[in-house]
Amino acid sequence: MHAILALWSAVVNWLALRVVEPVLAALHLSRLVADPPHEIAQYFLLTAMQVTIIAGVFRPLEGLWPAERWADRRATAVDRAYTLLKLFGVLPLFTYLALPPLARPIGGAGDNTGGVLSLQGLLPWLGWHPVLLFLVYYAFYDLVYYAIHRLQHTIPWWWALHSLHHSQRQLGCWSNDRDHYLDDLLEALIVAAVALLVGVSPTDYVLLVLSGELLQNLDHANLRLRFGPVLDKLLVDPHYHRLHHMRVDPDRPGLHHCNFAFIFPVWDILFGTALFVEPLRPTGVGDPMVDADNRHGLVGQQLYVLRRFWGAFRRRAGWRPGDVAFDERYMPVREFDLHRLEASQIPLTHAEGRATGAVAQPESSVSSCASRAGVPTSVQWPRCSEPASAQRAIAASSSGRSLKRGGFASTPAASPTVSRQPSSSSRRNTPMPL
Ligand SMILES: [Zn+2]
Ligand SMILES: [Zn+2]
Repeated sequence: MHAILALWSAVVNWLALRVVEPVLAALHLSRLVADPPHEIAQYFLLTAMQVTIIAGVFRPLEGLWPAERWADRRATAVDRAYTLLKLFGVLPLFTYLALPPLARPIGGAGDNTGGVLSLQGLLPWLGWHPVLLFLVYYAFYDLVYYAIHRLQHTIPWWWALHSLHHSQRQLGCWSNDRDHYLDDLLEALIVAAVALLVGVSPTDYVLLVLSGELLQNLDHANLRLRFGPVLDKLLVDPHYHRLHHMRVDPDRPGLHHCNFAFIFPVWDILFGTALFVEPLRPTGVGDPMVDADNRHGLVGQQLYVLRRFWGAFRRRAGWRPGDVAFDERYMPVREFDLHRLEASQIPLTHAEGRATGAVAQPESSVSSCASRAGVPTSVQWPRCSEPASAQRAIAASSSGRSLKRGGFASTPAASPTVSRQPSSSSRRNTPMPL
């Protein structure tokens, strides 16, 4: 043990002196970064270990016990880029460059006692039990994330951003960091502000973030793994989080509002959003305007989602809580036919239909239920008069998928009726029965 610790500090020392200090000096950042180079070196070493665990452990496990069988893994490449960019660029820049100036007015003092609402100030005995103190911070940190996550799914403009995380077609060990950077920034500002208020030190904050990240990397992995009937109530496992990523089931429309917790399912249990007993389901989104994220690479996704966000943010409908889809003007719309939306991958097409990315609806689907639903009649809506069974048949045939024992089995897509439709090959993901 002593040898390992000695090796660790030797490597941290070498990194700090030979890499961090020279790089900060070359970028003229030495004065702006208040944290000691050794702390930054430690961050990069821990991050390198995290990436090694993802690539060297989680990724091979996905090959051994996959939750879904994929013909290829092409759709995961962009998620891997998100992870590397966030861990080695965005997160350290935010933590060491942007956060310290924000910390001062709130009262961060660089240790666990500085916050305006310092937990240690309120409960001094916690200071004598650093492990317990860290666990309390951890639970609190997770509760704040739970609250943010509920809002991300409830407020339409926030969903416009967060839906990028859900639009993946292959949920795997790299998917955790597939986020819009504005979404990340909002999240990080709220979490960091709360952490500073309750007096989490920068070192504890980095530990909280990194350890939470590793568990979330595991939870996104394409892995048939459950922690068991007791442990899965204590810690989020891959099965639990995969259910959060399920596509909307038109026959059970509220089912996907579940499993918002990142680390401790207790928050879902307390607030009535936990779902444990459910077979695995296909992941991704039914809304074609959100699924269209997959036409872009990382930079393209950031720009495309920003337009979706702005389309929602600047309209009153973007602030009204509830489930929404987006029409081709990025207008949040809430009364829509779930079967049609889930099956078609056709954007809700505005009558003028001139916006980039708009796709013409087939003639037969133009019948509108908008007037009955009280939405603008200028928006073309799918036929809502068809019986549910007929809609399901249409849904199954047009998407090339059929319902089988609560999960979807893939079949080749049948006669696509739309142009510019995302490739169906990457949708041939088959959840395996547990
Ligand atoms: Zn979510
Ligand atoms: Zn997720």
